[in-house]
Amino acid sequence: MNTPTPAHCAVIGHPIAHSLSPQIHHAFAHSLGLNVHYERILSEIPDFERTVQDFFARGGHGLNVTVPFKERAFALAAHSSPRARLAGAVNTLWMAEGQLHGCNTDGEGLVYDLKKLHADPKGQRILIIGAGGATRGVLIPLLEAGAQTLKIINRTPTRATQIAEELSTQQPQFAPRLAVGSLQDTQGQWDIVINATSASLGTAGLQHGAIDYAPNALAYDMVYGAQPTPFMQHAQAQGAQRVADGLGMLVEQAASSFAIWFGQRPGTTTVRQQLRAQL
Ligand code: NAP
Repeated sequence: MNTPTPAHCAVIGHPIAHSLSPQIHHAFAHSLGLNVHYERILSEIPDFERTVQDFFARGGHGLNVTVPFKERAFALAAHSSPRARLAGAVNTLWMAEGQLHGCNTDGEGLVYDLKKLHADPKGQRILIIGAGGATRGVLIPLLEAGAQTLKIINRTPTRATQIAEELSTQQPQFAPRLAVGSLQDTQGQWDIVINATSASLGTAGLQHGAIDYAPNALAYDMVYGAQPTPFMQHAQAQGAQRVADGLGMLVEQAASSFAIWFGQRPGTTTVRQQLRAQL
Protein backbone atom coordinates (compact mmCIF):
# COMPACT_ATOMS: atom_id res chain seq x y z
CA MET A 1 0.00 0.00 0.00
CA ASN A 2 2.81 2.41 -0.74
CA THR A 3 0.51 5.10 -2.11
CA PRO A 4 1.40 8.80 -2.37
CA THR A 5 -1.37 9.55 0.11
CA PRO A 6 -0.46 8.15 3.51
CA ALA A 7 -2.96 6.24 5.60
CA HIS A 8 -3.87 8.57 8.42
CA CYS A 9 -3.73 7.11 11.94
CA ALA A 10 -3.58 8.76 15.37
CA VAL A 11 -3.77 8.36 19.11
CA ILE A 12 -6.28 10.45 21.02
CA GLY A 13 -6.09 11.28 24.72
CA HIS A 14 -5.77 14.00 27.32
CA PRO A 15 -2.90 14.50 28.04
CA ILE A 16 -1.20 13.04 24.96
CA ALA A 17 2.20 14.73 24.52
CA HIS A 18 4.01 11.85 26.27
CA SER A 19 2.61 9.12 23.99
CA LEU A 20 5.16 6.82 22.34
CA SER A 21 2.58 5.55 19.84
CA PRO A 22 3.66 7.73 16.84
CA GLN A 23 7.23 6.49 17.15
CA ILE A 24 6.10 2.87 17.48
CA HIS A 25 3.65 2.94 14.57
CA HIS A 26 5.96 4.84 12.23
CA ALA A 27 8.64 2.21 12.89
CA PHE A 28 6.13 -0.57 12.14
CA ALA A 29 5.05 1.12 8.90
CA HIS A 30 8.65 1.68 7.83
CA SER A 31 9.53 -1.97 8.48
CA LEU A 32 6.65 -3.12 6.25
CA GLY A 33 7.11 -0.47 3.55
CA LEU A 34 3.70 1.09 4.25
CA ASN A 35 2.95 4.80 3.89
CA VAL A 36 1.42 5.80 7.24
CA HIS A 37 1.11 9.17 8.92
CA TYR A 38 0.43 8.77 12.66
CA GLU A 39 -0.20 11.79 14.89
CA ARG A 40 -1.18 12.68 18.45
CA ILE A 41 -4.61 14.26 18.96
CA LEU A 42 -5.22 16.18 22.17
CA SER A 43 -8.97 16.23 22.71
CA GLU A 44 -10.66 18.46 25.22
CA ILE A 45 -12.68 16.28 27.58
CA PRO A 46 -16.18 17.20 26.30
CA ASP A 47 -15.08 17.00 22.63
CA PHE A 48 -14.01 13.34 22.42
CA GLU A 49 -16.97 11.93 20.44
CA ARG A 50 -17.04 14.81 17.96
CA THR A 51 -13.26 14.63 17.44
CA VAL A 52 -13.45 10.89 16.69
CA GLN A 53 -16.30 11.40 14.25
CA ASP A 54 -14.41 14.22 12.49
CA PHE A 55 -11.27 12.06 12.27
CA PHE A 56 -13.08 9.28 10.43
CA ALA A 57 -15.21 11.68 8.36
CA ARG A 58 -11.94 13.13 7.02
CA GLY A 59 -10.83 9.65 5.94
CA GLY A 60 -8.92 8.60 9.07
CA HIS A 61 -7.79 4.96 8.83
CA GLY A 62 -7.28 3.90 12.46
CA LEU A 63 -7.36 5.50 15.89
CA ASN A 64 -5.80 4.49 19.19
CA VAL A 65 -7.53 5.69 22.34
CA THR A 66 -5.87 6.34 25.65
CA VAL A 67 -6.64 7.83 29.07
CA PRO A 68 -9.25 9.08 29.87
CA PHE A 69 -11.35 8.12 26.85
CA LYS A 70 -11.21 4.30 26.58
CA GLU A 71 -14.64 3.79 28.17
CA ARG A 72 -16.24 6.48 26.00
CA ALA A 73 -14.65 4.89 22.92
CA PHE A 74 -16.33 1.62 23.89
CA ALA A 75 -19.67 3.40 24.20
CA LEU A 76 -19.16 5.08 20.83
CA ALA A 77 -18.29 1.94 18.85
CA ALA A 78 -21.23 0.30 17.09
CA HIS A 79 -19.44 -3.06 17.19
CA SER A 80 -16.91 -4.28 19.73
CA SER A 81 -15.11 -7.54 20.47
CA PRO A 82 -15.98 -9.74 23.52
CA ARG A 83 -12.72 -8.73 25.22
CA ALA A 84 -13.63 -5.06 24.74
CA ARG A 85 -17.10 -5.74 26.15
CA LEU A 86 -15.66 -7.32 29.32
CA ALA A 87 -13.22 -4.45 29.69
CA GLY A 88 -15.92 -1.90 28.89
CA ALA A 89 -13.03 -0.14 27.20
CA VAL A 90 -11.57 0.17 23.72
CA ASN A 91 -8.05 1.22 22.70
CA THR A 92 -8.40 0.65 18.94
CA LEU A 93 -11.03 2.10 16.59
CA TRP A 94 -11.59 1.69 12.85
CA MET A 95 -14.38 2.01 10.30
CA ALA A 96 -15.76 -0.96 8.40
CA GLU A 97 -18.75 -0.75 6.08
CA GLY A 98 -19.61 2.67 7.42
CA GLN A 99 -19.68 1.58 11.05
CA LEU A 100 -17.30 2.26 13.90
CA HIS A 101 -15.61 -0.87 15.30
CA GLY A 102 -13.66 -1.14 18.55
CA CYS A 103 -11.26 -3.62 20.11
CA ASN A 104 -9.10 -3.81 23.20
CA THR A 105 -5.66 -5.12 22.22
CA ASP A 106 -4.02 -4.95 25.68
CA GLY A 107 -4.60 -8.62 26.44
CA GLU A 108 -3.37 -9.88 23.10
CA GLY A 109 -0.31 -7.66 23.57
CA LEU A 110 0.35 -9.18 26.98
CA VAL A 111 0.01 -12.73 25.64
CA TYR A 112 2.45 -11.98 22.79
CA ASP A 113 4.90 -10.52 25.28
CA LEU A 114 4.61 -13.48 27.66
CA LYS A 115 5.33 -15.84 24.78
CA LYS A 116 8.37 -13.77 23.81
CA LEU A 117 9.51 -14.13 27.43
CA HIS A 118 9.11 -17.93 27.16
CA ALA A 119 6.19 -17.78 29.58
CA ASP A 120 3.39 -19.06 27.35
CA PRO A 121 0.20 -18.87 29.47
CA LYS A 122 -0.90 -22.35 28.30
CA GLY A 123 -1.26 -24.64 31.30
CA GLN A 124 0.05 -22.02 33.73
CA ARG A 125 -1.24 -21.01 37.16
CA ILE A 126 -1.61 -17.23 36.92
CA LEU A 127 -2.13 -14.76 39.76
CA ILE A 128 -3.22 -11.24 38.76
CA ILE A 129 -3.00 -8.45 41.31
CA GLY A 130 -5.51 -5.69 40.58
CA ALA A 131 -9.07 -5.53 39.29
CA GLY A 132 -9.12 -2.33 37.25
CA GLY A 133 -9.30 -1.70 33.54
CA ALA A 134 -5.97 -3.34 32.79
CA THR A 135 -7.05 -6.63 34.39
CA ARG A 136 -10.40 -6.53 32.59
CA GLY A 137 -8.57 -6.09 29.29
CA VAL A 138 -6.31 -9.13 29.67
CA LEU A 139 -8.52 -11.85 31.19
CA ILE A 140 -10.14 -13.29 28.06
CA PRO A 141 -6.89 -13.43 26.03
CA LEU A 142 -5.08 -15.15 28.95
CA LEU A 143 -7.86 -17.73 29.29
CA GLU A 144 -8.11 -18.22 25.52
CA ALA A 145 -4.35 -18.78 25.52
CA GLY A 146 -4.95 -21.74 27.84
CA ALA A 147 -4.22 -20.50 31.38
CA GLN A 148 -4.89 -23.41 33.75
CA THR A 149 -6.00 -21.24 36.69
CA LEU A 150 -6.46 -17.49 36.83
CA LYS A 151 -6.88 -15.89 40.23
CA ILE A 152 -7.64 -12.16 40.58
CA ILE A 153 -6.75 -10.59 43.92
CA ASN A 154 -7.54 -6.98 44.71
CA ARG A 155 -7.48 -4.44 47.54
CA THR A 156 -11.24 -4.12 47.06
CA PRO A 157 -12.16 -7.81 46.65
CA THR A 158 -15.72 -7.08 45.48
CA ARG A 159 -14.30 -5.56 42.29
CA ALA A 160 -12.48 -8.84 41.57
CA THR A 161 -15.68 -10.79 42.28
CA GLN A 162 -17.65 -8.56 39.96
CA ILE A 163 -15.22 -9.08 37.06
CA ALA A 164 -15.28 -12.86 37.56
CA GLU A 165 -19.09 -12.88 37.64
CA GLU A 166 -19.35 -10.78 34.50
CA LEU A 167 -16.89 -13.00 32.67
CA SER A 168 -18.61 -16.18 33.85
CA THR A 169 -21.94 -14.85 32.56
CA GLN A 170 -20.45 -13.73 29.27
CA GLN A 171 -18.30 -16.82 28.69
CA PRO A 172 -19.38 -19.64 31.07
CA GLN A 173 -16.70 -22.01 29.77
CA PHE A 174 -14.08 -19.96 31.62
CA ALA A 175 -15.79 -20.02 35.05
CA PRO A 176 -14.13 -23.23 36.38
CA ARG A 177 -10.68 -21.73 35.84
CA LEU A 178 -11.38 -18.42 37.63
CA ALA A 179 -10.82 -17.55 41.30
CA VAL A 180 -10.88 -14.30 43.26
CA GLY A 181 -9.72 -13.00 46.61
CA SER A 182 -8.23 -10.22 48.68
CA LEU A 183 -4.58 -9.13 48.47
CA GLN A 184 -3.79 -11.63 51.22
CA ASP A 185 -5.35 -14.60 49.37
CA THR A 186 -2.15 -15.68 47.64
CA GLN A 187 -2.23 -19.35 48.74
CA GLY A 188 -0.92 -21.91 46.24
CA GLN A 189 2.03 -21.96 43.93
CA TRP A 190 2.16 -19.65 40.90
CA ASP A 191 3.89 -19.84 37.51
CA ILE A 192 3.07 -16.28 36.40
CA VAL A 193 2.28 -13.36 38.73
CA ILE A 194 1.12 -10.11 37.11
CA ASN A 195 1.00 -6.75 38.82
CA ALA A 196 -1.90 -4.90 37.17
CA THR A 197 -2.33 -2.26 39.87
CA SER A 198 -1.45 1.39 39.60
CA ALA A 199 0.09 1.29 43.08
CA SER A 200 3.77 1.43 43.75
CA LEU A 201 5.10 -0.95 46.31
CA GLY A 202 5.85 0.12 49.85
CA THR A 203 4.27 0.96 53.13
CA ALA A 204 1.76 3.33 51.57
CA GLY A 205 1.43 1.27 48.39
CA LEU A 206 0.71 -2.29 47.33
CA GLN A 207 0.85 -4.82 50.15
CA HIS A 208 0.04 -8.36 49.09
CA GLY A 209 0.42 -11.69 50.91
CA ALA A 210 3.57 -13.79 50.52
CA ILE A 211 3.78 -15.42 47.10
CA ASP A 212 5.09 -18.93 46.48
CA TYR A 213 6.77 -18.70 43.08
CA ALA A 214 7.10 -22.02 41.22
CA PRO A 215 10.54 -22.92 39.85
CA ASN A 216 11.26 -20.70 36.81
CA ALA A 217 8.18 -18.56 37.56
CA LEU A 218 7.81 -15.11 36.01
CA ALA A 219 6.83 -11.97 37.93
CA TYR A 220 5.47 -9.44 35.42
CA ASP A 221 4.80 -5.78 36.14
CA MET A 222 2.55 -3.96 33.65
CA VAL A 223 4.33 -0.78 34.65
CA TYR A 224 7.71 -0.19 32.98
CA GLY A 225 10.76 1.93 33.60
CA ALA A 226 14.48 2.33 33.16
CA GLN A 227 15.16 0.28 36.28
CA PRO A 228 13.46 -2.87 37.59
CA THR A 229 10.24 -1.71 39.25
CA PRO A 230 9.73 -2.07 43.02
CA PHE A 231 7.30 -4.95 42.31
CA MET A 232 9.97 -6.76 40.27
CA GLN A 233 12.60 -6.24 42.97
CA HIS A 234 10.25 -7.48 45.68
CA ALA A 235 9.31 -10.53 43.57
CA GLN A 236 12.97 -11.46 43.12
CA ALA A 237 13.49 -11.20 46.85
CA GLN A 238 10.49 -13.52 47.33
CA GLY A 239 11.99 -16.14 44.99
CA ALA A 240 10.79 -15.29 41.47
CA GLN A 241 13.51 -16.57 39.15
CA ARG A 242 12.40 -14.32 36.27
CA VAL A 243 11.00 -10.78 36.18
CA ALA A 244 9.84 -8.46 33.40
CA ASP A 245 8.23 -5.06 33.04
CA GLY A 246 5.39 -3.98 30.74
CA LEU A 247 7.33 -2.27 27.94
CA GLY A 248 6.93 -5.33 25.74
CA MET A 249 3.17 -5.31 26.35
CA LEU A 250 3.03 -1.67 25.25
CA VAL A 251 4.77 -2.49 21.95
CA GLU A 252 2.81 -5.71 21.35
CA GLN A 253 -0.61 -4.09 21.94
CA ALA A 254 0.42 -1.48 19.36
CA ALA A 255 1.40 -4.26 16.92
CA SER A 256 -2.04 -5.82 17.44
CA SER A 257 -3.74 -2.50 16.62
CA PHE A 258 -1.55 -2.16 13.54
CA ALA A 259 -2.53 -5.68 12.44
CA ILE A 260 -6.24 -4.81 12.73
CA TRP A 261 -5.79 -1.71 10.55
CA PHE A 262 -3.38 -3.06 7.93
CA GLY A 263 -3.86 -6.83 7.96
CA GLN A 264 -0.19 -7.49 8.74
CA ARG A 265 1.40 -7.88 12.16
CA PRO A 266 4.78 -6.10 12.21
CA GLY A 267 7.89 -7.49 13.83
CA THR A 268 8.53 -5.87 17.20
CA THR A 269 12.12 -6.70 18.13
CA THR A 270 13.75 -3.53 16.78
CA VAL A 271 11.14 -1.18 18.27
CA ARG A 272 11.39 -2.91 21.64
CA GLN A 273 15.15 -2.42 21.63
CA GLN A 274 14.87 1.24 20.58
CA LEU A 275 12.37 2.09 23.29
CA ARG A 276 14.34 0.23 25.95
CA ALA A 277 17.44 2.23 25.02
CA GLN A 278 15.48 5.49 25.32
CA LEU A 279 14.07 4.86 28.82
P1 NAP B 1 -7.24 1.32 37.30
O1 NAP B 1 -8.42 0.90 36.48
O2 NAP B 1 -7.23 2.67 37.91
O3 NAP B 1 -7.07 0.22 38.48
C1 NAP B 1 -6.12 0.39 39.45
C2 NAP B 1 -5.94 -0.90 40.26
O4 NAP B 1 -4.86 -0.66 41.18
C3 NAP B 1 -7.15 -1.31 41.09
O5 NAP B 1 -7.21 -2.70 41.16
C4 NAP B 1 -6.81 -0.71 42.45
O6 NAP B 1 -7.41 -1.37 43.55
C5 NAP B 1 -5.33 -0.94 42.49
N1 NAP B 1 -4.64 -0.07 43.45
C6 NAP B 1 -4.45 1.27 43.36
N2 NAP B 1 -3.78 1.71 44.44
C7 NAP B 1 -3.56 0.63 45.24
C8 NAP B 1 -2.91 0.44 46.50
N3 NAP B 1 -2.35 1.47 47.16
N4 NAP B 1 -2.83 -0.82 47.01
C9 NAP B 1 -3.37 -1.86 46.32
N5 NAP B 1 -4.02 -1.75 45.14
C10 NAP B 1 -4.10 -0.50 44.60
O7 NAP B 1 -5.90 1.22 36.45
P2 NAP B 1 -5.63 0.28 35.18
O8 NAP B 1 -6.10 0.96 33.95
O9 NAP B 1 -6.16 -1.08 35.50
O10 NAP B 1 -4.02 0.27 35.09
C11 NAP B 1 -3.23 -0.43 36.05
C12 NAP B 1 -1.75 -0.29 35.69
O11 NAP B 1 -1.46 -1.01 34.50
C13 NAP B 1 -1.33 1.16 35.42
O12 NAP B 1 -0.10 1.38 36.06
C14 NAP B 1 -1.16 1.21 33.92
O13 NAP B 1 -0.20 2.17 33.52
C15 NAP B 1 -0.70 -0.20 33.61
N6 NAP B 1 -0.98 -0.62 32.21
C16 NAP B 1 0.09 -0.93 31.42
C17 NAP B 1 -0.13 -1.34 30.11
C18 NAP B 1 1.03 -1.67 29.20
O14 NAP B 1 0.87 -1.74 27.98
N7 NAP B 1 2.21 -1.93 29.75
C19 NAP B 1 -1.45 -1.43 29.59
C20 NAP B 1 -2.51 -1.13 30.46
C21 NAP B 1 -2.26 -0.71 31.76
P3 NAP B 1 -8.91 -0.95 44.07
O15 NAP B 1 -9.86 -1.65 43.14
O16 NAP B 1 -8.97 -1.48 45.45
O17 NAP B 1 -8.99 0.55 43.98
